[in-house]
Amino acid sequence: MMAEAIDIHSDEMIEAGRVLFAGACDFVMGAAREEQLPPTDLAEIAFAGRSNVGKSSLINALTGRKALARTSNTPGRTREVNFFDLGDKLMIADLPGYGYARASKTSINNWTDLIERYLKGRRPLRRVCLLIDARHGLKDSDRVAMKLMDASAVVYQIVLTKSDKIKDTPRARLIAGIQTELAKHTAAHPDICATSAVKGTGIPELRAELAALALEEKFG
Ligand code: GDP
Repeated sequence: MMAEAIDIHSDEMIEAGRVLFAGACDFVMGAAREEQLPPTDLAEIAFAGRSNVGKSSLINALTGRKALARTSNTPGRTREVNFFDLGDKLMIADLPGYGYARASKTSINNWTDLIERYLKGRRPLRRVCLLIDARHGLKDSDRVAMKLMDASAVVYQIVLTKSDKIKDTPRARLIAGIQTELAKHTAAHPDICATSAVKGTGIPELRAELAALALEEKFG
């Protein structure tokens, strides 16, 4: 099957996404340094975003688990890439949050170093979901992350979180504004996914999109 032949919005892909994310999902390990990154042949999807963007909530909503990805009580504390194996079909990498206002220079440098090495050296990485809080839009720290991904030529897709917190009109305006900015970024995927972990909005569609990437790996 060719990658282009998969219609990610079809009922079949929605069902494939549901099945994939309803299956087993196991914590593999946390890696604080490049040498600790686990070897894998599975297609991999990473989740990145500012501290408190709702990353743990989104991963838990996707996998239908309450506490798979632990919400960090102290923003900026989690300094590891956490790996989860989804039914031996897809690896999920939960990247440490960035943009914490009180983070030290050293911890920012450590974050950049680890993420840069991860992005450059991770062959199975198919896409990064870059989470953006729908109430705040793009921040400068997000733009730094986008530049890192442009430089590594890793495709990233904007996923709005907490979209239950804003009304339709400002949300449409926000999406249009981000799309304009994305056009200037070489590695950005043009589609933006609006989600709410609380209401479940956009979750089946995002599961379908990620399942399509797992299937491409299998058939591509
Ligand atoms: P993380 O630090 O990126 O892992 O963020 P968390 O998942 O811990 O979420 C940060 C805060 O945002 C928590 O108080 C969550 O309850 C809240 N939150 C996360 N997702 C949503 C959502 O979809 N809607 C709303 N209204 N709040 C959310």
